[in-house]
Amino acid sequence: MADDADVIVVGGGLAGLVAATEIADAGKRVIVVDQEGEQSLGGQAFWSFGGLFLVDSPEQRRLGVRDSHDLALQDWMGTAGFDRDDDHWPKRWAEAYVAFAAGEKRDWLRAMGHRIFPVVGWAERGGYDAMGHGNSVPRFHVTWGTGPGIVEPFERRAREAERKGRLTFRFRHRVDTLVMTNGAVEGVSGSVLEPDPIERGKSSSRKVVGDFILRAQAVIVASGGIGGNHDLVRQNWPKRLGEPPKHMISGVPEHVDGRMIGITEAAGGRLINRDRMWHYVEGIRNWNPIWPQHGIRILPGPSSMWFDATGKRLPAPLFPGSDTLGQLHYIMSTGYDYSWFILTQSIIKKEFALSGSEQNPDLTGKSWRMTIKRATNKGAPAPVEAFKQNGADFIVRDNLQELVSAMNALSGDNLLKLDHITAQIEARDREITNPYVKDAQVMNIHNARRYIGDKLIRTAKPHRILDPDHGPLIAVKLNILTRKTLGGFETDLDSRVFGTNGQIIQGLYAAGEAAGFGGGGVHGYRSLEGTFLGGCLFSGRNAGRAAAKAAG
Ligand SMILES: Cc1cc2nc3c(=O)[nH]c(=O)nc-3n(C[C@H](O)[C@H](O)[C@H](O)COP(=O)(O)OP(=O)(O)OC[C@H]3O[C@@H](n4cnc5c(N)ncnc54)[C@H](O)[C@@H]3O)c2cc1C
Repeated sequence: MADDADVIVVGGGLAGLVAATEIADAGKRVIVVDQEGEQSLGGQAFWSFGGLFLVDSPEQRRLGVRDSHDLALQDWMGTAGFDRDDDHWPKRWAEAYVAFAAGEKRDWLRAMGHRIFPVVGWAERGGYDAMGHGNSVPRFHVTWGTGPGIVEPFERRAREAERKGRLTFRFRHRVDTLVMTNGAVEGVSGSVLEPDPIERGKSSSRKVVGDFILRAQAVIVASGGIGGNHDLVRQNWPKRLGEPPKHMISGVPEHVDGRMIGITEAAGGRLINRDRMWHYVEGIRNWNPIWPQHGIRILPGPSSMWFDATGKRLPAPLFPGSDTLGQLHYIMSTGYDYSWFILTQSIIKKEFALSGSEQNPDLTGKSWRMTIKRATNKGAPAPVEAFKQNGADFIVRDNLQELVSAMNALSGDNLLKLDHITAQIEARDREITNPYVKDAQVMNIHNARRYIGDKLIRTAKPHRILDPDHGPLIAVKLNILTRKTLGGFETDLDSRVFGTNGQIIQGLYAAGEAAGFGGGGVHGYRSLEGTFLGGCLFSGRNAGRAAAKAAG
């Protein structure tokens, strides 16, 4: 039977778009199949903050940050903590990816018109030793235009290829099976879903109105992870983190359903590191939700005080922005699946950013006028103020007694004791007068302010939390927010998927989150952030180039 294309890509998210454009540019014919409608092209990346891990960039250098490939590799390995036989390919991917991030990544994107906001962010700062978890230096480069700004060059290239007849989109086509002959993948089959004009990101109809089968020499699975499917998240929850949380909110749309992962596994693909995931602990319920249980992640600066559900301050170095997995581990060990920030108006104004394109209209809309207000405005950015006023997890009060009483009412657990909280805040406040201190979080604040980027827009001037001049006081109830899948299909550096027998499955490739962003888990246990979009770019590119080459 004649092939419908040289290659079929399952998923029109960032990884799928990158792979498809590489295939079309190599002169091959490609079909991109996606269960969602055309309005959702770009998948999760559209909603993203557009943060990219880059090493030794001109943006870093302009801010006085001295970075290098070796420092980044040291950080990556300390963060990943590779410790399994299954980490053979993930580790090789990590080495290749760090070289990409320190090498051609920025220029490759720039040549397509991609631009970067000049202040580089400092995510996952660690706090252990030089070989431990975390970024030694700021490396989180925000795309000018956030998520849509990273999708745009690839969508443009895809539309050009579509016009030239090399690329075809099949929207509302849900793959249910990989078509196999003698152990080789030869296509996909599935259900045609009814047209649904629903807004991007909202849950679309799953009513089946037909079926389809498409054949090609190769299939690239770029179907995303499992973060929108809490049952799967709980099923894969690692024992080392205790029982899965009872309550979680979703940091991804419902289409991140993990269904295609099961389908690829059923066809013989070897899924590794399924117990490694990247969920955030600073999730807040969206007062204006787009998808079910929609949560937003706070990207916190270093100054908020962090308390567990019982009112005990999180131990050093678990400060905001230091070690996401360490914080999740600690919080789950308390027996409760939430925690609290207590902060001041001065802190929220300078330090709260919300992850997501729609929460950053200034950067997403590429408006310098609005963006400059981040540094000069009296209040917090408008989306943060909107959460402060409307968000179910925000409490604003003029004094600590009223704040703690409202916190107890919100959780319903009544675990917080005013005396206990007061003592811890007053003790921390006594450390503020000197620039040299014992309190590790306060030391961390001084350290952050030595970096010009943090001083300008991310770290409030040290002050007493109970100083009324910096008030009102704010408490935020933090939920666990599902987001990324760190494990995935084991692949070689050409993104070719291994079968459970250890042999490459002919014609099958995986990219993006479905491939654990490369190799089946390039991040190991933890991420340095900005590495997911980058992982889609790198693994999508490798998959596309290799599949095009193999198509002859
Ligand atoms: C709010 C938010 C902020 C983020 N911020 C950042 C950031 O700043 N930096 C960073 O590095 N990362 C960030 N991320 C993560 C990053 O955006 C995602 O990990 C990445 O975009 C995943 O891309 P993907 O192509 O692998 O999968 P997806 O974007 O999930 O795309 C997969 C596509 O496959 C389709 N599909 C699935 N199953 C089937 C099937 N059976 N048949 C047909 N189609 C199917 C889906 O409909 C979807 O369109 C963020 C994510 C979110 C949601």
